[in-house]
Amino acid sequence: MKLAGRVALVTGGSRGIGKAIVWALAKEGAKVAFVYRSNQEAADKLVADLELDQHEALAIQADVKDKKQADAAVEKVLEKWEKIDILVNNAGIIRDGLLALMEEDMWTDVIETNLNSVYNFCHAVTRPMMSARYGRVINMSSVAASYSNPGQANYAASKGGVEGFTRCFATELARRGVTVNAVAPGFIETDMTEAVVNAAGAQIKKAIPVRRLGRPDDISNAVLFLASEESSYITGQVLTVDGGLSLGGM
Ligand code: NDP
Repeated sequence: MKLAGRVALVTGGSRGIGKAIVWALAKEGAKVAFVYRSNQEAADKLVADLELDQHEALAIQADVKDKKQADAAVEKVLEKWEKIDILVNNAGIIRDGLLALMEEDMWTDVIETNLNSVYNFCHAVTRPMMSARYGRVINMSSVAASYSNPGQANYAASKGGVEGFTRCFATELARRGVTVNAVAPGFIETDMTEAVVNAAGAQIKKAIPVRRLGRPDDISNAVLFLASEESSYITGQVLTVDGGLSLGGM
């Protein structure tokens, strides 16, 4: 197994893409802690399912926007397993609206959840990873960071910020054996995209060269590679996983 003996922390691990990442890391032998916001039922079920499959798992309720809660979550993992080798900053939300109609809380909620959270958790793991001279950080971006979708100024700004952050942080930690990369998914079928897929699924599929929507496993496979030893010469990169959506062909 690729990740035997490794310890991972995944934010937003209770559902969707994060849940697929938790499973992918666990199946390769990592002990996996994950953070969720409010859906305790989903979190408890995931821990029970992982334990049933002989994996070590820990669910932590925390709001990723809150630095103190992020610090406490990291502390809990360190107390239990004494290290964090892999951090996946996956938690994210959308609150779409044209800017003229975008209330301040729609802006701050998205920026704080999607971008401040990346600072909160990366800051908390920096010293432990530097001391261990090993780490894999994977931040969840989106093709929206490079696209011009009306109604997503807040989301695009947050994900563009994640990509810039990823490049800078990568250069700071490269000499310490820590790689920092981002993954930019296209349209992946989760709760987040349910409404838009219901409204325009067929049209979206036509714009994707592989002619299907993405599945959470498409993203977890990419994350698994960036979380493994095999990716040690890749840092500061954004890996797009979108079925060719961003190629701009017909
Ligand atoms: P989901 O809405 O399915 O799941 C979101 C997860 O994030 C849940 O586990 C949720 O916890 C958690 N979460 C949200 N806000 C907070 C918070 N404040 N504190 C702690 N946890 C929080 O999202 P997806 O799986 O679709 O998306 C995952 C990531 O992938 C996001 O960063 C998203 O921007 C990105 N992405 C998704 C795409 C897609 O097509 N789905 C495309 C491009 C990028 P809880 O269950 O408790 O609510």
